[in-house]
Amino acid sequence: MNTLEASTDTKSETNIVAQIEGASKHFGPKRDLFGRLIERTGLIEQYRTVRAVDNVNLEIRQGEVLGLVGESGCGKSTLGRMIAGITPPTHGKLLWNGRDVSTLTGRDRREAKLRMQMIFQNPFASLDPRATVERIVAEAPRVHGMIARSGMDATRYVGRYLDFAGLPSHLRNRYPHELSGGQRQRVGIARALAVQPDLLVCDESVAALDVSIQAQIINLFMDLRHELGLTYLFISHDMGVVEHISDRVAIMYLGRIVEQAGVNEIFTRPSHPYTQALLAEIPRLDPVKRHFTALKGELPSPLNPPQGCHFNPRCTQVMDRCRVELPILRRTSPGRAVACHLENLSPKGSL
Ligand code: SF4
Repeated sequence: MNTLEASTDTKSETNIVAQIEGASKHFGPKRDLFGRLIERTGLIEQYRTVRAVDNVNLEIRQGEVLGLVGESGCGKSTLGRMIAGITPPTHGKLLWNGRDVSTLTGRDRREAKLRMQMIFQNPFASLDPRATVERIVAEAPRVHGMIARSGMDATRYVGRYLDFAGLPSHLRNRYPHELSGGQRQRVGIARALAVQPDLLVCDESVAALDVSIQAQIINLFMDLRHELGLTYLFISHDMGVVEHISDRVAIMYLGRIVEQAGVNEIFTRPSHPYTQALLAEIPRLDPVKRHFTALKGELPSPLNPPQGCHFNPRCTQVMDRCRVELPILRRTSPGRAVACHLENLSPKGSL
C-alpha cells in the first residue's frame, strides 16, 4: 500500500517538479553467491540491512521551498541525494516533471540530472583544491555545451553566476583555500547555478557557517528563488531556519516521513508527537504558549528499528497498538498528513 494515501489539495493546479514514489534506500554488504549460500545455512550471522530511507513518497512543487527536518541519522541526507539524482533508490522511483528518471536515456537523462543540483554542508570538501573559482564554476557548463550555446565566453559566463551568488568577480582567480567559509559556499552556489537548475537540494547548507553568514546565505537563497524561479528542498535539523524559509515542511524519523503540512500548520498546530517534541526544543523568546515535552533518548539504530511505530520508545503518548503496528502516513486534514495511531483518520483523499 502506498504509505501516503494522499497528495495535495492544490495538486491539480500545481506543477510537481520532482517526486519520489515508494522510494527506499537500503545499505548492506554486497554478497557473492557463496556468501549468500553460507548465510542461508545459518553458520554466519545474517547480514543486516540499514533502511536509511524506507518507503517514502514526497513531491516538490514548482517554486516552493519544502523543508525536510529530522535529527542527525534519520535519513534526510540520503533522501536528499535520492531526490537530487545522486543516489539511486533501492526500491521505488524518482520522477522528474512526471517522467521516471531511471527510464530516461542520453540527452534527456543528462538534462534531468543537471536540472537538480545539490548544495552541500561542507563546501570545502566539494571544491577541487587545485582549481580556481573560475574553473570550478565553468567546468560543468563547458562540458555540457552551455557556455558555447550562451554566446558568451567563459569569463563572462562565469562572471554572471558569480554575480548571482554575490561573489565579487576579482575572486575568480583564487583557490578554495584562499576563501572564507561563506565565500566557498557562494562558489558552491555559483557552480550549481551555472548549469541552470530548476531545483536546488540544500543539505544543511548553512549549518557549518557563522550565524551572521548563515543569514546572508539564506537571504541569497530567497533572492535567487525570486530572480531565477528556483524550487528548493531545504534539509536541516534547525527548525528555526526551516520555519523562516519554508512553504511546507516534511518531518522525518528513522527513514520515514511522519508528518507533512504547510509551515504555519506545522509550527502552530503540530500533530505528530515527534514534531511536537522537536518544536519543544526550539528556544523561543515570544510568549506563544506551547507546552510540549522535549525529546528524550537517542535515535534508535536504523539497523534494528523498534517494532511497530519506530518512535514508540520515545513517545510520551505510546499505546499498546503502537508497539506492534507501524502507522502509515495518511491525510488527517486538508494539507496535512500524519503517521500516528492517535490521529482520527479521515477518509482517503487529497492532502
Ligand atoms: Fe506515539 Fe503511537 Fe503515535 Fe507512534 S503511533 S507517535 S508511539 S502515539
